Amino acid sequence: MSECIFCRIVSGEIPATEVGRTEDAVAFRDLNPQAPVHVLIIPTRHAATAADLLAQDGGAARLAAVFALATRVADELGLADRGYRLVANTGAEGGQTVHHLHVHLLGGRQLTWPPG
Ligand code: 5GP
Ligand code: ZN
Repeated sequence: MSECIFCRIVSGEIPATEVGRTEDAVAFRDLNPQAPVHVLIIPTRHAATAADLLAQDGGAARLAAVFALATRVADELGLADRGYRLVANTGAEGGQTVHHLHVHLLGGRQLTWPPG
């Protein structure tokens, strides 16, 4: 059994509210939402960061699959015209707490910039 909580969500060992899935990516609701829409989009194969994913065979296509699913879910949840934010916290100073690459899809309210 994987130690990685997001690998366990991919396999179904940990429940999550899925909003989309392809062979290469899964989208599910964040447990602690920071906006009316807060979805995480992850590659199905484990990689800690985008750089690690790109270092894998076929990683560029799987990274593209993560962003393709993110934009599809944004559209399906009614955000395409309103706008939304995609962000991947990376490493210690990036504030990454789960070390399986994930893109946050945030929307449904006016977002501010810069983030904290
Ligand atoms: P990070 O801080 O690494 O960019 O984001 C990790 C995100 O994963 C956080 O927003 C946190 O709420 C979310 N999260 C952590 N554990 C779980 C979980 O078991 N299920 C779900 N759905 N989200 C989680
Ligand atoms: Zn993982």
